[in-house]
Amino acid sequence: MSHSACHNVLDPVVGERLDGPQDIARLAVAVGSASLDLLQADHAWSGIEIALWDLLGRARDAPVHDLLGEGPPVPRTPYASSLFGDEPHDTWAKARAVAGAGYRAAKFGWGPYGLGTGERGLATDADHVMAARDGLGPDAALLVDAGTVWGSDVDAAAARLPALEDAGVTWLEEPFASGALDAYAALARRCARVRLAAGEGAHTPWQARHLVDHGGLGFVQVDTGRIGGIGPAAAVARHARRRGVRFVNHTFTTHLALSASLQPYAASPEDTLCEYPVEQSELARAATLTRLDRGRDGLVRVPDAPGLGVSPDLAALRPYLVDVEITVAGRTLYRTPELVP
Ligand SMILES: [Mg+2]
Repeated sequence: MSHSACHNVLDPVVGERLDGPQDIARLAVAVGSASLDLLQADHAWSGIEIALWDLLGRARDAPVHDLLGEGPPVPRTPYASSLFGDEPHDTWAKARAVAGAGYRAAKFGWGPYGLGTGERGLATDADHVMAARDGLGPDAALLVDAGTVWGSDVDAAAARLPALEDAGVTWLEEPFASGALDAYAALARRCARVRLAAGEGAHTPWQARHLVDHGGLGFVQVDTGRIGGIGPAAAVARHARRRGVRFVNHTFTTHLALSASLQPYAASPEDTLCEYPVEQSELARAATLTRLDRGRDGLVRVPDAPGLGVSPDLAALRPYLVDVEITVAGRTLYRTPELVP
């Protein structure tokens, strides 16, 4: 009988009514129980949930953040999200370019950072961080993303703290795997001014809440495309606010995903930063007709347009479609859908 929890995520969704936000919440519960045993259910449902908010907003001629009922949106300071260069001088050049493009906040992550061992590894990491600071200038916010490189090794992460403190880094992101709550809490106790950030690896709102409540975070970063969509992300944002932890979007690809990631905290004045992809792939750039460009003041605004306010470019996406059909015993379970404008 437990196979009642092994249904395709679409089964409880297709054919249902969508009259208001309460229906999206109802379908989330239905998917949660019908697909409980499927590890990928939260990811699959996230895409559907975001599309339902967009659909509802377009039907009601209202932006999604209006439907969430949290007041007028606040502009955000975008941080340019980049990878560390191969060598410190490459990192410096990237930081210089980002500052030259007018960004007042930037994040560097992944690449070689944290991979080296011993004194040499520590020195190379410190050189990368200082190169980023030199390239950005003294006033811009500098964020560092370790991409979970230390697993749960608190000492390895703590050894990098002096260089991060010296460079005036605002946050150290994902030093550990996102379930390593003890390691997060232990490292947080060893930080002076640097705060910890994490949350992109949270696949449910409870995982994100645990990071907020038990991980000693200064910033929780939520990806609407992973956590179950806009509704759960908004719930995490409200929880973080009550706990004095700042909420930040996590996003790295299209401006459609960027808009979805901004809606859950659109009205929160304390959460000043937003992640802003600057190294978009050709596909990510081509995917939308609308872009969320920075204003003259350098800030990013959530679209004041129905739904997510961003339209996909179906003609540009068509060349990327791959025809897939899954047929079992004569019954077609899946076929690549038509892209209908
Ligand atoms: Mg990250």
